[in-house]
Amino acid sequence: MALKIWLNDGLVDEADAKVSVFDHGLLYGDGVFEGIRVYDRKIFELEAHIRRLYESARVIRLSMRMSEPELIEAVETTVRANDIEDGYIRLVVTRGVGTLGLDPLVCTDGSLIIIADKIQLYPEELYEKGMKIVSATTVRNHPLALPPQVKSLNYLNNIMAKIEALDNDVPEAVMYNHEGYVAEATGDNIFIVRNGVLYAPPVEAGSLEGITRGVVIRLADREGITVVEKNLTRYDLYVCDEFFLSGTAAEVIGIVEIDGRTVGDGKPGPITRMLRERFDDYARGKEK
Ligand code: PMP
Repeated sequence: MALKIWLNDGLVDEADAKVSVFDHGLLYGDGVFEGIRVYDRKIFELEAHIRRLYESARVIRLSMRMSEPELIEAVETTVRANDIEDGYIRLVVTRGVGTLGLDPLVCTDGSLIIIADKIQLYPEELYEKGMKIVSATTVRNHPLALPPQVKSLNYLNNIMAKIEALDNDVPEAVMYNHEGYVAEATGDNIFIVRNGVLYAPPVEAGSLEGITRGVVIRLADREGITVVEKNLTRYDLYVCDEFFLSGTAAEVIGIVEIDGRTVGDGKPGPITRMLRERFDDYARGKEK
């Protein structure tokens, strides 16, 4: 079934949802975006995603064409129009139509695109058996070059690392920052468990402040698990008991091998499995 797409100020048919070849989102990756899930017709952490989008826009000095409450309503309208029960929303804001030059000030109206569609998850088997990962040689963007907290349309830094993962026949790669500390995976945040304590690299180590990461930390805390945000090295990843990733699309997924070294006993660990279950309950509204 053809989708209804929100383009700028209203819904249009998928076939009519087109942007200009002069849009700086296309020419320069100049823009910001969000990926949001729908579970049982409920939009997951919508306010948090909208807040992050506006913060990203503010950092790159991109003006939004509507207010936060108006954008929330536009997202809800798009989800309803496509009758999405379980799905994925892609929210894209570009600098808009300009000239071939870099100058963002000639782009008057930013383009707003909202797509609500089905989601392609990792296969269930990967959640049960766990995923393999490798360390990327591509260093995460230096925060003074482009703050990794900005969810910008320029994902080449992550894509370079993703290529390294795929070259090694694994779906994900660990990215380290310019100081050698663990930053994040190419599209997910990183957690490890050692001696029953849950560790996450601080956002300042060079990651997106993941919405799923925030939820996982809250759920772990509620379960009485000590959560410590501190710089982690490759050594920490090699000696940990459990390792998992968090993200909107992946949710919580166990890592069982890194750079050819087995993590724990080679299966997703008990804390990983418990947090995955709690996350599912939370997302589907089985608990508050
Ligand atoms: N890091 C990067 C680079 C991402 O693109 C994402 C989102 N896919 C995440 C982390 C996870 O963030 P969230 O939980 O908000 O999806």
